[in-house]
Amino acid sequence: MKRYATRVLASFLVLLLLCASFPLLPAYSKDYPVVKNVIFLIPDGMSLAGTTLARWYRGSSLAMDEMACGLVRTHSAVGPITDSAAAGTALAAGFKTNPGYVTVLPDGTPVASVLEAAKLAGKSTGLVVTCEIPHATPAVFSAHALSRKDYDTILKQQVYQGMDVVLGGGHAFMKPGARKDGEDLVEAVKALGYEYVTDPEELHKVEAGKVWGMFAPKALKPDFDRDPVREPSLAEMTAKAIEILSKNPKGFFLMVEGSQIDWAAHANDPVYLVSEILAFDEAVKVALDFAKKNKDTVVIVAADHGNGGVSIGDRATSGNYSKLPLSSFIEPLKRAKLTGVGLEEKLAPDRSNVIEAVSRYYGIADLSEEEIKAIKEAKPGKLSYVVGPMLSKRAHIGWTTNGHTGEDVVLYVYSPKGEKLTGVVDNTDIAKYIGKVLGLDLRKATQELFVPARMAFEALGAQVYWDDRNPASPVLVVSKEGVELSLPVNTNVAKLNGKTIHLNGLTVYYGTKTYVPQAAVDLFKAAWEKARASKAA
Ligand SMILES: [Zn+2]
Repeated sequence: MKRYATRVLASFLVLLLLCASFPLLPAYSKDYPVVKNVIFLIPDGMSLAGTTLARWYRGSSLAMDEMACGLVRTHSAVGPITDSAAAGTALAAGFKTNPGYVTVLPDGTPVASVLEAAKLAGKSTGLVVTCEIPHATPAVFSAHALSRKDYDTILKQQVYQGMDVVLGGGHAFMKPGARKDGEDLVEAVKALGYEYVTDPEELHKVEAGKVWGMFAPKALKPDFDRDPVREPSLAEMTAKAIEILSKNPKGFFLMVEGSQIDWAAHANDPVYLVSEILAFDEAVKVALDFAKKNKDTVVIVAADHGNGGVSIGDRATSGNYSKLPLSSFIEPLKRAKLTGVGLEEKLAPDRSNVIEAVSRYYGIADLSEEEIKAIKEAKPGKLSYVVGPMLSKRAHIGWTTNGHTGEDVVLYVYSPKGEKLTGVVDNTDIAKYIGKVLGLDLRKATQELFVPARMAFEALGAQVYWDDRNPASPVLVVSKEGVELSLPVNTNVAKLNGKTIHLNGLTVYYGTKTYVPQAAVDLFKAAWEKARASKAA
């Protein structure tokens, strides 16, 4: 008893400490005008200086500039610097959680995302990214897992989530050989009625219906290095997604991620960074043009966190910064024709052509002996991390870290009517704002989608057990008096006495607890009542 009391006191103190360290802003209780559609574009890991640099590089204002209206606090449940999963959970569902968690609370309870709530309301939904589709940011809108690294679970949930448009990379993770459960998810998406496309030409032919586009085995190429015949741009994918989703008279929710802005910042590669931000801004322009014409669409742009500590000016400019012309910063970047990622493919296997390739494609013609050595010794897949800082040095672009950073990010909102979200907001406020403007009830959606399964079925007097003949793909079985309902985990499939039905939500499972949509409970209850009535008659 005494130990229990100590534990309660300790938890209380931790909570108090957390509240004191991260005072939350008042929850957004304002009313905003309701619209039909929301397009939420996330420039992953975009710090403000990167945006400024991209604007200078292009030489004219960005599409997102006119929407700037506030700041977003980005901290996670445990610290001031977040990862993409915890940040994404806040943006997608309105809750702080632990790093690595995918739209589950710190205690492991799943919560509905705005995408799921929009789907329940009859809206069409979509994801557009340039990373692999089970990566953290697309995952938080469409899956629930205790680890962002659990691609097997996340991808299967995404396939069975019932979204309308999914465009990005990652077909390597869908193949039976790559999956513990041995399932072929490419065949699964086709069986679920998706048009499965793999290049821009096929994508452009799709005019309506459900489409699943996988344009690379893992991530797409950096935009700067992209072959437009093989891979669509983020803007092209965004335009196609809007074209398809906007056919639903009830409206849509679309999330678009500039996924590799983050990767460029991790690598401290400035030309990769500006080219990804500009490609992202093209997608923002597509969304904004649609919203201005459509007049019933809110467009939101907000990064999940900063990254790299990028700055215009570095240690070397401490004494002469005000004398340096714009060209000192931009011309070295303009000479690069590929990112550090693209450059790696141009190096000979023995790296004998370093001087020539770096001069030709990356614009650096004065490599030192040490730099040549470092490039020769760069680990596969990491050249960007080696040449990025070399280009940065010549362009006086500063960096402080290869990791995320804890500063606020810029909030950008376009609203066709009335008041919009502005000021210094918390990342959780954005999900709440999306819920408000789409007229969704996120709390109710969570209650509808995540019912503790054992409790609900046992309350009906049913037996609940696991069929784990395939341990990588267990099936929850519920039975009573000849009525049997099978619920394969990570899918929306319900087999009622062998007949397949697709539910409005997923069966999810976290080692000790299983959650099913209320629809599964209702389905079983109705079937059992019907069977009992026919027996009585
Ligand atoms: Zn991120």
